[in-house]
Amino acid sequence: MPRIAVINRNSCQPKRCSLECYHYCPGVRTGEETIVIEESTNRPVISEELCTGCGICTHKCPFHAISIINLPSELEGRCIHRYGSNGFALYELPVPRAGSVVGLVGPNGVGKSTALEILSGRLRPNLGSGEAATPKQLNEFFKGSELQSYFSDIERVKVIYKPQSVNGLPKIVKGKVNDLLLNVDERGAVEDLVSALGLGDILTRDVKFLSGGELQRLAIAAASARDADVYYFDEPSSHLDVFQRLNAARAIRKLAKDGKAVVVVEHDLAMLDYMCDYVHVVYGQPGAYGVVSSPRGVRTGINVFLDGYLREENVRFRRESIKFEVRPPSKFRAAGKLLLTYPKLKKSFRDFRLEVTPGTLHVGEIVGVVGPNAIGKTTFVRMLAGELKPTSGKLETKLIISYKPQYPKTEFDGTVEEWLRSVLGEFDPAFEPEVLQPLGVMPLFERNLTELSGGELQRVAIAACIGRSADLYLLDEPSAYLDVEQRLQMARVIRKVIEKRDAAALVVDHDVLSVDFISDRLLVFTGEPSRSGTTHGPMEMRDGMNLFLREVGVTFRRDPQTGRPRANKPGSALDREQQERGEYFYL
Ligand code: ADP
Ligand code: SF4
Ligand code: SF4
Repeated sequence: MPRIAVINRNSCQPKRCSLECYHYCPGVRTGEETIVIEESTNRPVISEELCTGCGICTHKCPFHAISIINLPSELEGRCIHRYGSNGFALYELPVPRAGSVVGLVGPNGVGKSTALEILSGRLRPNLGSGEAATPKQLNEFFKGSELQSYFSDIERVKVIYKPQSVNGLPKIVKGKVNDLLLNVDERGAVEDLVSALGLGDILTRDVKFLSGGELQRLAIAAASARDADVYYFDEPSSHLDVFQRLNAARAIRKLAKDGKAVVVVEHDLAMLDYMCDYVHVVYGQPGAYGVVSSPRGVRTGINVFLDGYLREENVRFRRESIKFEVRPPSKFRAAGKLLLTYPKLKKSFRDFRLEVTPGTLHVGEIVGVVGPNAIGKTTFVRMLAGELKPTSGKLETKLIISYKPQYPKTEFDGTVEEWLRSVLGEFDPAFEPEVLQPLGVMPLFERNLTELSGGELQRVAIAACIGRSADLYLLDEPSAYLDVEQRLQMARVIRKVIEKRDAAALVVDHDVLSVDFISDRLLVFTGEPSRSGTTHGPMEMRDGMNLFLREVGVTFRRDPQTGRPRANKPGSALDREQQERGEYFYL
């Protein structure tokens, strides 16, 4: 059985420990060099040949920095890349196919981006040894697989890459949207892309004034306009509303229709389902190793991912399967007492009007907030938070409100722990076990706030929001950059906190599966983005989903095996039947 020893370099802190790993290792105690402390860095190096896998060091290390992993024997000799000795290890690779969209689904930190880097030729794989593999070695490694010819020609494969985070885009590209797009229009596709992605209104705008959702659509358009063999899209859905997600999915599918090979990483499973022909499940232990499984058809692949078990490989990669209740939603139990009643409110800006219809919030409930972007969701939330004064109507509330904005700020110069202490003061004793642990924030404590990835920053921002003692929690798009398991975990943590504190939460989200999972009721926004918006509800899940999805023009059915919602193909028999019955989601 191949065994690897991985030391998480962010967690290992030889200056703050007593080198427990070294002192307790039985191999070291009998005089072998199972662990040596590197002189230049004072860091431990574990010899995988000498290590017996006893696991003592993993328990003794105060920072849980070491993972000793026994891998299935099928993976022997299948390591495609290792980030140095005791570094993260990636096994196998996804297979791009001309004319198809191939999806990667799996947790953050199991090597999806690494796999994309390798396939794009930007990272030369080392097959687990120290040096980059020669073309001959790669040829041998991939013998008999579709990747053999891919790597034989990797110098000539032209690859276009849409990076995960688009927030940094204005730092890299400058100028007007239109000029940027025309500059990259190698396929003569810009006109179609502008209309498919709804960019018409922002063509003359400078990139530095674009919102996250606008930057995302611009990035997708710019990537799709280029001429290449393989296109990679890393999380194309972040910051897009449901309507825009479906349009983005169609634009990406169009590339495959034109004969291109497309690979996407996506955590919105409804979108992944809608977009892909095949799916590779990527599993492993975040930060330690990852395995890219063989491709499966999109429905089976997503179900296997939810199930946590790969039958052909006989690998269980998650203890429990993820299930969705096929609830015809029970009538809302207004169990909790009334927390807030708000009257009719209006807010007008120069070009935008929001009309809020009266509503109520109850203790212990999570209200999902759905609707297009630029429809007034944030404006509503900011009025509740007292940050904005209504133009008409009066909002009188003494409620303490804690708010997580859509784009968490990162200017703070210091560590995660310092930042959390600066905004929260003394930690509540329950904060660690109930919030920090389940959200996986503890291992980030020593990291600098400015160097976190999108998903890490998101979890820290959620922790800061729900770590405050408040009556009402407002979280704007907390699922952006989180993987599926983190989304579900986040939902559980929020639920627990509001139940304990007799509070309620409003959660803005565009991932239909997350909304379904997290919400007790729905607040629906309709209107004309950037011009006017109206609120409806909070109302029952069924009514809310129907109202919302009718606006979007898409119906969902349930997968019989997992209960997960799947978007119906527009115009299909099921789609038409459900539209006629007015049942867009719950059957
Ligand atoms: P995913 O895309 O699935 O989130 P990544 O490929 O980004 O996963 O990362 C997988 C692991 O590899 C992480 O633990 C990450 O810290 C590590 N890693 C990524 N790039 C490097 C690098 N240049 N050097 C060392 N480790 C790296
Ligand atoms: Fe210390 Fe743990 Fe690093 Fe070993 S692995 S040096 S015990 S922090
Ligand atoms: Fe030493 Fe055991 Fe750790 Fe291997 S698992 S390095 S043998 S303590």
